[in-house]
Amino acid sequence: MKIGNKTKIVATIGPASASKEVLKEMIQAGMSICRINFSHGDYEAVKKILANVRQLNKEMGTYVGVLADLQGPKLRIGEVVNGGVEIVVGHHIVITTKPCMSDAKRVFITYPTFPKDVAIGDNVLIADGKLMLRVTATNRKDEVKAVVVYGGMLNSKKGVNLPNTRISMPSLTEKDLKDLKFALENNIEWIGLSFVRTVNDVVDLKEKIKKLKSHAKVVAKIEKPEALLEIDNIIDMADAVMVARGDLGVEVDAERVPLIQKMLVRKCIEASKPVIIATQMMESMLTNFSPTRAEVNDVANAVLDGADAVMLSEETSVGKYPVRAVQYMQRIAKHIEENENSIYYKEHHPQLQTHTFISDSICYNACVMARQAGVKAIASMTNSGYTAFKISSHRPKANTFIFTDNHLLLTTLSLLWGVHGFYYDKYLSTDHTISEIKSFLRKQGLLVPGDFVINIASTPIKERGRTNMMKLSQIV
Ligand code: PEP
Repeated sequence: MKIGNKTKIVATIGPASASKEVLKEMIQAGMSICRINFSHGDYEAVKKILANVRQLNKEMGTYVGVLADLQGPKLRIGEVVNGGVEIVVGHHIVITTKPCMSDAKRVFITYPTFPKDVAIGDNVLIADGKLMLRVTATNRKDEVKAVVVYGGMLNSKKGVNLPNTRISMPSLTEKDLKDLKFALENNIEWIGLSFVRTVNDVVDLKEKIKKLKSHAKVVAKIEKPEALLEIDNIIDMADAVMVARGDLGVEVDAERVPLIQKMLVRKCIEASKPVIIATQMMESMLTNFSPTRAEVNDVANAVLDGADAVMLSEETSVGKYPVRAVQYMQRIAKHIEENENSIYYKEHHPQLQTHTFISDSICYNACVMARQAGVKAIASMTNSGYTAFKISSHRPKANTFIFTDNHLLLTTLSLLWGVHGFYYDKYLSTDHTISEIKSFLRKQGLLVPGDFVINIASTPIKERGRTNMMKLSQIV
C-alpha cells in the first residue's frame, strides 16, 4: 500500500470535476477532501457528487471527506444594464437597498440594513476591490451616497466588501440554514462558516449542528478583519480554520496576508486545529496546463508554513485541468516533505491540570519518542478522533495511522496533516489489538521487520475511554 503526502489537498468540485471518472483521477492524484461551494450549484448536483465520492471510497478503499462551504452573508450588487457599465473616478453614485436595474448612477445592493450600518468615509469595495467607492452620505433608511475612488467596469452581481463597516447581518443567512440542514441530512463531515466575525458566530453554528443531532465539524473561514481581533477564541472554538485569502486580501491590505497566514498556521498548530490555505493557489491553471512559478512558490510556502491542507477553488470546479492541478499540488508538497526537515517536529507541551492532560501527554511524548528513536509509525486507536488531532499537530515525521470503527470519523480525519485512517472494529484486549494492528501494517508493507513502532491506546480497551497508554516495540 502507498501512503500519500502528509499535507492534504482540498479540491472544490463543480462542473469540471463532478463526474465519477474525473473524481476518481483526482483521488488517485492525491485529493483528500472535496469542497462543495454552496454559493453555486443545486442540491441534485450536490447529491450526485456525494454519491460519486462515497461510491469511489468503497471501490478504492479511500476515506475522502466532504466540506460544505456555506456562502454566509456575501454582499453583492444586482443586475447592471447591458451586463456592465463604466463608472468614472469622481462621479457620484446612489447605492440603494430597493431592488432596481443598476447603472452608473444607481446601484442595488443585497444588504437591507446597509444605510443604517454604514458611516460617512467608509469604503465600498466592488469586484475584489477592483472598484472602490467612498460613502459621503446616508439617509439611514434605504439610500447611501458615494463617490467613485477607483473606477472601471461595474458588472452584474459582483461581490461587495465593506472592510470598515460593522455589518449587522447574521453570520448564517436563510439560505445558509437551508444549506446546513441539507448538508447535515446528507452526512457531510465538515461545514465551512464564511465571514466569521466573532467567536459567537462559531458557537451559534455549533449549537445548530448539535440541535440537528449531527457530529459535523466546523471550519471557521478567516476573511474579515474583525475575526483577527479575537482570533485565539475563534481558533479555540472552531474545529478547523481556513485562511480564506480571496476575501481576506480585499478586507485587509493584501500585503498583510502572508504574515497573517503564517500567524494563523502557527496558532492552529499550537491549538491542535487543522488549517487550510485557500484561494488563487494555482489560478492560472483555470486555462493553463501548468501553474506559474509564483503559484508553485505559493503552494510550497504554505507547505513550509506547516499548513494541514492546501486548497484548489475554481481550478478544479470550473478549470480546464482539474486532475493536473491536484497532481501538481501533490508534486510540490511531496518535494518539500522529502527535502525540508523544518516542517516536522513542532512539538508543543501539553497543558497541566486539564481534563485531557493524560491523553495530551501520551500524544506529545509519543511524538517526542518517535523523533528520538527514529520510529517509523505511530498507530493509535480512537473513538472521538481526539488523538488524531493531537498527534497530527506535533507534526511527527513518523507516519500516523489511526484506527477506528467509525466510518464518518475516518472521512473527517482525512483533512488532518499526516493522518491516514483505517477501519478496525475488534475490541478484545489491548494486547490483541496492538498485535493485530502491527501485523496489519506489516502485511500492507507500511512497516518492515526492524522498524520501530509506537502504539497508543486506551486501556482497558473495552471501556473506550481516553488514550492512556503507549508502547514502543520493534517489528519482527
Ligand atoms: C476566500 O474568500 O478565499 C474563500 C475561500 O471564500 P469563497 O471562495 O467561499 O468566497
